[in-house]
Amino acid sequence: MSELLIYFNGEFVPKSQATTSIYDHGFLYGDGVFEGIRAYNGRVFKLDEHIDRLYDSAKAIVLDIPLTKNEMKEAILQTLRKNNLMDAYIRPIVSRGIGDLGLDPRKCTKPNVFIITQQWDALYGDLYEVGLTAVTVTTRRNAPDALSPNIKSMNYLNNILAKVEANNKGGDEAIFLDNNGYVSEGSGDNIFAVNNGKVYTPPTINNLKGITRAVSIEILKDMGYEVNEQHMGLFDLYTADEIFVTGTAAEAAPITQIDGRSIGDGKPGKVTNKVIEAFKEVTRNNGTPIYPENEVKV
Ligand code: PMP
Repeated sequence: MSELLIYFNGEFVPKSQATTSIYDHGFLYGDGVFEGIRAYNGRVFKLDEHIDRLYDSAKAIVLDIPLTKNEMKEAILQTLRKNNLMDAYIRPIVSRGIGDLGLDPRKCTKPNVFIITQQWDALYGDLYEVGLTAVTVTTRRNAPDALSPNIKSMNYLNNILAKVEANNKGGDEAIFLDNNGYVSEGSGDNIFAVNNGKVYTPPTINNLKGITRAVSIEILKDMGYEVNEQHMGLFDLYTADEIFVTGTAAEAAPITQIDGRSIGDGKPGKVTNKVIEAFKEVTRNNGTPIYPENEVKV
């Protein structure tokens, strides 16, 4: 099989050659932003929303992306086409660029833009049927007044520490609390609870404004469920009838155990399964075509 092609500053280069300097501040300091996007059945799901979030993240860290949003979209579609992909995970990355060992971002005169695309299967395999085990981690989610979780920055150490802790405790996913003890999100996904037929999810001040979260809220409201965006404590999770997490990689995934407590009857719940099904439907039938001239490519 030929090597995957990576978009790198306007060129398409084989994966093994898509490299930057160790003086890139993305490498030295996690100084940059990224997105995680998916394509299903030849269509990129919620491309505009992901592009908007990428540029918002960049704005928040005062990083000028050297492409217009339309150019970025076209570069993403081109990368998918070059790799002949229909179902893919897409990772645009914009780092501050090459500077020196000092922190000063003014030393980095040219951001580096990478787009990685690759074939991608379900993140949690057969756990969608049995449910994930989650653990609350002692690492608190980055405070919004320190490094806002709304910024999808290349600095994911907070999330990695949560994942390490979940791994050590035998959990499939970590649940973050914020510094006030409110439920924040998973290490790479947003969280929802269902109780007495009503749905609850934390407001997005202390977590990433997830695009799958927004889609799930729409799905739930269309199905007639009341969705409340409000702060939650651990008690609300432990006593919920159902819990599920949402994210581009995870899609919608049930959580059936938290910190040794079974959630509901310990099986993926009715509402959760409905969201999973509806999400499948919506992702397979919507999105920006990768091959507009040949939409039913085989
Ligand atoms: N929270 C975090 C920390 C994430 O990394 C992600 C994945 N991007 C999400 C939530 C879910 O966001 P989305 O649905 O936009 O992928």
